[in-house]
Amino acid sequence: MAKTKGKIGVTSENIFPIIKKFLYSEHEIFLRELVSNAVDATQKLKTLAIAGDFKGELKDPRIFISVNKKKRTITISDHGIGMTADEVKRYINQIAFSSAGDFLEKYKNDANAIIGHFGLGFYSAFMVSEKVEVITKSYQEDAEAVRWECEGSPQYKMETTEKENYGTDVILHLDKDSDNFLEKTKITELLNKYCKFLPIPIVFGKKTEWKDGKEQETEEDNVINNTEPAWVKKPADLKEEDYNEFYKELYPMNFDEPLFNIHLNVDFPFNLTGILYFPKIKSNIDIQRNKIQLYCNQVYVTDSVEGIVPEFLTLLHGVIDSPDIPLNVSRSYLQGDPNVKKISAHITKKVADRLNDLFKENRENFEKKWDDLKMFIEYGMITEEKFYEKAEKFFLLKNTDGKYFTLEEYKKLVETEQTDKDKQLIYLYASDVDSQYSYIKAAKEKAYDVLLFDGQLDMHFINHIESKFENQRFLRVDSDIIDNLIRKDEKIDAKLGEVEQQHVRIIFEGVLPEDSRYIASTANMRPEDMPVLITNDEFMRRMKDMSKMGTGTNFYRDMPDSLRLVVNTNHPIVIKISEESEKKLAAKLNKLEEEAIPLRAERDELNEKLKDKKDEEISQEDKDKRDNINKKIREISDKKSVILKESGKKNKLVNQLFDLALLSNNMLKGESLNSFVKRSLDLLEK
Ligand code: ADP
Repeated sequence: MAKTKGKIGVTSENIFPIIKKFLYSEHEIFLRELVSNAVDATQKLKTLAIAGDFKGELKDPRIFISVNKKKRTITISDHGIGMTADEVKRYINQIAFSSAGDFLEKYKNDANAIIGHFGLGFYSAFMVSEKVEVITKSYQEDAEAVRWECEGSPQYKMETTEKENYGTDVILHLDKDSDNFLEKTKITELLNKYCKFLPIPIVFGKKTEWKDGKEQETEEDNVINNTEPAWVKKPADLKEEDYNEFYKELYPMNFDEPLFNIHLNVDFPFNLTGILYFPKIKSNIDIQRNKIQLYCNQVYVTDSVEGIVPEFLTLLHGVIDSPDIPLNVSRSYLQGDPNVKKISAHITKKVADRLNDLFKENRENFEKKWDDLKMFIEYGMITEEKFYEKAEKFFLLKNTDGKYFTLEEYKKLVETEQTDKDKQLIYLYASDVDSQYSYIKAAKEKAYDVLLFDGQLDMHFINHIESKFENQRFLRVDSDIIDNLIRKDEKIDAKLGEVEQQHVRIIFEGVLPEDSRYIASTANMRPEDMPVLITNDEFMRRMKDMSKMGTGTNFYRDMPDSLRLVVNTNHPIVIKISEESEKKLAAKLNKLEEEAIPLRAERDELNEKLKDKKDEEISQEDKDKRDNINKKIREISDKKSVILKESGKKNKLVNQLFDLALLSNNMLKGESLNSFVKRSLDLLEK
C-alpha cells in the first residue's frame, strides 16, 4: 500500500474538541475502552482458532500496557486478530462517525448520549491524546501491517509498515493536559477500577518486591486482573469461602464478612450474571450505598446503579454483569428501558426468594443475622410492593426479651390479651429497653408483650405496615398509661373523690417547669403502679421522629414534645399528699369555697331564669350580671389554683415524685438532678 492521506468520515469539521469538552470529567475511561477493544480482538482470535479458522500459532494472548514518561506515550498492545488496511478504513475511519454531525447537534448537552452513540470506543483516545498511532497486523495469512496516525483532526495518515506479530499496538501521545496519566500509580488505579476482572490477562510492568529497604522490580510480569472472577464460575464449583474470598477481592477495605450471598445466573429473557452480598447494615443507610459494581462482559462500567436496580437493593454489595443493560446511555433512558425493568424485577424476586429459603432452611441462623438484615428488609418492604408480598412471610418482629416472631406468629401470640374493647389489636413497642424500662414492666405486669423497635427505619416501617393492617395499631409503651394504651372495660375504683383528684392535679402542676409543654392529668391506676408517669403522645412523637429523619414536614420537628404528666390518684403516696394538703390548706380553701357557694347559687338561679331565652332576648343587664358572676367564680378558682400550686411547689414529696418520673425517663439532668439528690438525702434523714 502506498502512503495515503485521507479525511475521517465525519461531517462535523472537528469532533475532537467536542469529545474533550463534553466528556471532560470522564476522560479516564479511554483506558477502559482501549483495553476492552484489545480484549475483544484477543477473544475473537481465540474463537477463530477454536472454530479452526485460524491455523497459525496462538501467541501469548495477553495484553500489555506500558507508559513511557519521556516520550509521553501510553501503549496498549494485544495479540488479537489485528486489522487489514481495509478494516482500518472501515472500522476506524468510517463507522464511528457516520451521521456524527446531526447527532452532535441534537445531543450536544448530554455527554452520556454522546458516549452511547459512538460506543465511544476507540475515539475516546482523543480525550487525552494529541496524536494517536495504531500499528496493526491482521491474523490472516500474508497480511501486511498498517500504520495509522491521526492528530485529533479529521485528517489521518495511513501507510504499510513492518510488524513482527499479528495484533495491534495503540500508541497514545498524550496532550499537555493529560500529564497525570503518565504516572504509574494513576494507570494502576485505573486498571484496578476498570479492568480488574477482564477475561484476558493484562500485564502492566513487572511485579515489585521490597528488597534492601526499597521497592524493586522483579522478573515477573505484573498481571493486574483476575480473569475468572467468582461470578463467571458455576455456583456448584464454589464454596462459601470462595464467595467470601471474592468479597474481599471486591472490597479490600471492608473488613466485615457479608451475611449471605446470592449467585445470579439468568440467560432468559435476558443475560445476567452476578453475585450479590448482604452486608451487615447497622446504621446510616446512606453510607452503605453504591457498593454494587456493574459490569458488561467483565468490563467495569459503574458503581452507581440507581435506576438499574430498585433503590433498596443499592444497599447490597457485589457485582452485576449483563451485556443487556444499555450501559453508556443516560440514566433517564435507563429507567424507562424495558430490559432494565425486567432485570430489576428479576433481581428483586431472586433476593426475596433467597431470603425466604434461608429463613426456611435454618431459622436459628436467620434469627442470629436478623438484626443486621432488618433494615435492608424493611427498606425493601416499604419501597417495593412485590418485595413486601414475599417478605411478609419471613419478616421478624423482635420483642424486648430478644425473641423473634413472624408477623403471623406474633399476631397469634398477642391477639387475645392485647385486643382492646373496640376490637383494635394493639402492638406495644419500646425503642429503648433501658430508658423505657418502667413502662415495659407495667405492660408485662398486665401480661402484655412488648416489641423492640430501635432501628433507623422502624418508624417508617411501622407506619407502612399499619396502613396495611386492619384494626391493628402500634403504640409505644410510654405514649400513655398502660390502661389507656389497651383500653379494656374493667374499671378501677377511685380512692379519692373528684374534687381531691382535681386538687392533686393542680398541686402537681405546681412543679411543672415554667415554660413547660406538659399537660398534667390524673388517672385511677392500681396502687402498685407508678405514682407519677410522663408519657409522650404517640402521634406527635412519630411525626417528630420522622421529620428528624428528613422525611415528613419540618412543622413537626420544630414543635415541642407533647408530654403528659399522669398522676396515679390511687397510689398510697399520692393519697398521702392529697390528705396532708387538704388538711393543711383546708382553712384557706374553705374560706374561698364559702365565697364561692353563694356565687354559684346566684349563677344557677340566673341560668335557670335565662335557660329558655335566646341570646337576643336576654337583657343587657342580665348579660352583665352573668359575666360578672362568672368572672368572680373564675377569680376564686384561680386563687384556689395559686394556693394549690404554691403548696405543690413547696411540697418535697411532690417534687420528688416528679423528679422520679423524669429520672425513669432519663430526663433528669444538670441542676435538677443535683437538687433531686440533695432532696433525697433530706428525705432519708427524716
Ligand atoms: P466498538 O468497539 O464499539 O465496535 P470502537 O470504536 O472501539 O467501537 O472500535 C471500532 C472497531 O475497530 C471495532 O469494532 C474493531 O473491529 C476495531 N478495533 C478497535 N480496536 C481494535 C484492536 N485492538 N484490534 C482489532 N480491532 C480493533
